[in-house]
This record gives sequence, C-alpha cells and structure tokens, in this order.
Amino acid sequence: MSPYVLPDLAYDYAALEPHISARIMELHHSKHHKAYVDGANNALAGLDEARETGNFANINRLEKDLAFHLGGHINHSIFWTNLAPNSGGAPEGELSAAIDEFFGSFDKFQAHFTAASMGIQGSGWGVLSFDPVGKRLIIQQLFDQQGNTAQGTIPLLQLDMWEHAFYLDYQNVKADYVKAFWNIVDWGNVAKRFEAARAGASATLLIS
Ligand code: MN
Repeated sequence: MSPYVLPDLAYDYAALEPHISARIMELHHSKHHKAYVDGANNALAGLDEARETGNFANINRLEKDLAFHLGGHINHSIFWTNLAPNSGGAPEGELSAAIDEFFGSFDKFQAHFTAASMGIQGSGWGVLSFDPVGKRLIIQQLFDQQGNTAQGTIPLLQLDMWEHAFYLDYQNVKADYVKAFWNIVDWGNVAKRFEAARAGASATLLIS
C-alpha cells in the first residue's frame, strides 16, 4: 500500500513558459517530485517493518527520511498549485489587506520574500506562511525540504529555490528566476489557502 501519490498538474508542462520551461517542469514533476513520493512511501514501509520486527536500529535514518521526503512531497504539491499560466499581478481582497498590514505594502512584501528566497544558503524554499499563534503572516526560509520553520505554521505560497528548479533555464542567475516567478503566481490559490488557514487557526496548535 502506497499512501502518497504523485498529483497530476492542473496545466501542461509547457504552460508556464517562458517563465519556467517545459523541460524543467517535466523533470521537476515526473522525476524529482516522484522521488519524494516514493521516498515517503518507502520510509513509512520501513517504519512498519521496524515495528513489526521490533528492530529499531535504523529509526533515526527512517525518521529523517520521512521528514525529508514527505516534506518534499508536500512542498511540491503546494508549489504546483501556487502557479498558473496567465496569472501574476497582485493579490486582492483580504489577502491584499493582510499583506499590507503585516509587511507594510505589497512591494515591501515582494522585496522581503525575494531577499529571503535569494538568501537561502544551500537548497530550500521561500515560504509565505500563516502563523496561527500570532494570527499573522510571516515569511520563512525553509531549508532542504523540512528545516528552519516553526511548528504549526501553515504554508500559503512557496518558491522552490533548489537548483533543480531553475538551473536549466537561469543557470546561476537566481534573481531572474525569482522575478519570473512573480509572473506566474496564482494569487487566487494563495487567497484560498489564507482563508482556510485563518478558519482553522484556533484548532491548529491549541496554545492560543
Ligand atoms: Mn523542487
């Protein structure tokens, strides 16, 4: 039994061109994301076996594999739906108001998110999150697939800053990749996630 499944994309691999090429999308979805799905399923299977046999000699590796691969599966699943052809622009409504409230303006938010994404040392993600404790938006640097974010924060918008996400198209010029990203953000998807996060906030951590 494989609990995790590679999701279909809502658009063709070529749909995000010229901002992200079809070749990157195909490799990124069918190879990289698929490997995280398989890795998460394998980690669960390994943990099943460990419980069955009572042999927990590999527990640290299995738990680390689960965090990394499940992280990768979740991160990419969010990322694909954050993007859409013929999108970009700026958020509207309550999301726009919240961005103004917590970051000063949309321009300041974009500058902060861009700097956080560009500044990641090694592989990782820029993430706009809802913090259910402070009931506010925050920007986080997610390291690898699973590190450096606070428990319980809810991701709304993620930008993949692993080299596999941009190197074929942009080589080492990360700034052009991040600039292109703003042209394909589906703010309607981010707004839906914001609404759901706020609605569920009081139950998320039960500490506030
Ligand atoms: Mn990736």
